[in-house]
Amino acid sequence: MNKNKLTTSWGAPVGDNQNSMTAGSRGPTLIQDVHLLEKLAHFNRERVPERVVHAKGAGAHGYFEVTQDLTKYTKADFLSEVGKRTPMFIRFSTVAGENGSSDTVRDPRGFAVKFYTEEGNYDLVGNNTPVFFIRDAIKFPDFIHTQKRHPQTHLKNPNAVWDFWSLSPESLHQVTILMSDRGIPATLRHMHGFGSHTFKWVNAEGQGVWVKYHFKTEQGVQNLAPDVAAQLAGENPDYHTEDLFNAIDQGDFPAWKLCVQIMPLEDANTYRFDPFDVTKVWSQKDYPLIEVGRMVLDRNPDNYFAEVEQATFSPGTLVPGIEVSPDKMLQGRLFAYADAHRYRVGANHNSLPINRPKAEVNNYQRDGQMRSDNNGGSSVYYEPNSFSGPTETPHNKPASYEVSGAADSVAYDHDDHYTQAGDLYRLLSVEERERLVQTIVGAMKPVEKDEIKLRQIGHFYKADPEYGKGVAAGLGLSIPE
Ligand code: NDP
Repeated sequence: MNKNKLTTSWGAPVGDNQNSMTAGSRGPTLIQDVHLLEKLAHFNRERVPERVVHAKGAGAHGYFEVTQDLTKYTKADFLSEVGKRTPMFIRFSTVAGENGSSDTVRDPRGFAVKFYTEEGNYDLVGNNTPVFFIRDAIKFPDFIHTQKRHPQTHLKNPNAVWDFWSLSPESLHQVTILMSDRGIPATLRHMHGFGSHTFKWVNAEGQGVWVKYHFKTEQGVQNLAPDVAAQLAGENPDYHTEDLFNAIDQGDFPAWKLCVQIMPLEDANTYRFDPFDVTKVWSQKDYPLIEVGRMVLDRNPDNYFAEVEQATFSPGTLVPGIEVSPDKMLQGRLFAYADAHRYRVGANHNSLPINRPKAEVNNYQRDGQMRSDNNGGSSVYYEPNSFSGPTETPHNKPASYEVSGAADSVAYDHDDHYTQAGDLYRLLSVEERERLVQTIVGAMKPVEKDEIKLRQIGHFYKADPEYGKGVAAGLGLSIPE
């Protein structure tokens, strides 16, 4: 085929792409110019709905290589032998801003990895922070509303942000991370990534352990000072996107060590924090990091829309040997992420090239909008059947586990929202603490109601009295009773 010959979307040669067909040289334009109609109509449909959260993103391809044998903990095929390489794709993002918003804002960064394993895709859909603001998915839409725009002014609204946080003290740990130096990474390469939730690993004997994931940047952690970040946000809103693309383009491939923390199942009943509560970490003194492998990003996407915008990640995209935990935030995300993609990209989003597993897909799902493969052809389209269609493999059933308690809408038993936020504060250097307090004071100043500020100061105080006093002094308020 002659690649230089311009065609319509139905493949016919185009005679004129400069002038629309008109009645005489002055017009009006004729509706029979279907090339014009198709061109304008397709243009109107160029956007898919942007993600409600994590709209602004940058992606890259790479590989994951196993560096340590952990088969005693998991039968996951892609972790089965040292040296095994699995292709992967990552999408980094900010959370609150729209698709065209600035990269260098203070916000958690999405850190979503898709491993194309031989036993199907595995998505690890985390952030650059080990914890999250809330721990029950029922609060997620409300929380995100506070991060988005005011319904009347269409402006960001610090009143809503701090009202919600002060009334949801489980957010304190993540708020402290966000307001610390690490709240604005220098680049996407200079930050850690975390699976954040607790997952379960299951080995070939069916024995399980709880697991948390840490991607440790080999570039070192580096952050942007707020004034530099603000300047960059104006001068080059795509600073992080550009940095990642250029680094890979120049052969400076960023890499992360993947480490895990492993907790015996029975420890979950006695650990001093609820290990499924995503607002908490597991202390590394209790559960030290164990290296599993290394992730290297070595190829830029060829096409942003096809690969980065249409990439769909879901924490429920799991492979044998990796299972979920009861984490209430994770449980909600198991629904919300896949559902967002069915709405945004379509019911057949998994068959797009960027999402399509390298492993063979055999099932009885058929039809739906934009089904673009052969739709199962003439093969049997229901199960069970007598025609040798694909059948289940019972050894791949998730491990069973005991549950107890009454079905009820209840909070986690543990509600210590302060110790770990305080531990983080105390881990910071004096200068880091000063900058943390300064950032919080700057962020809280526009809040109109003292009631909200005082409630939040109370939380900082409970984490560490010095922390609370610092913020109170900066805001010209005294510590509440
Ligand atoms: P450890 O001393 O064993 O670990 C401290 C952790 O904090 C390390 O992961 C370290 O990662 C990280 N860290 C160091 N400096 C900073 C910083 N300025 N901002 C954010 N994180 C930093 O202590 P624990 O495991 O008992 O945790 C103590 C506190 O550390 C926690 O309350 C939590 O806030 C924070 N933390 C804990 C993590 C965990 O998984 N346990 C993970 C990240 C933070 P590194 O040196 O690589 O930067």
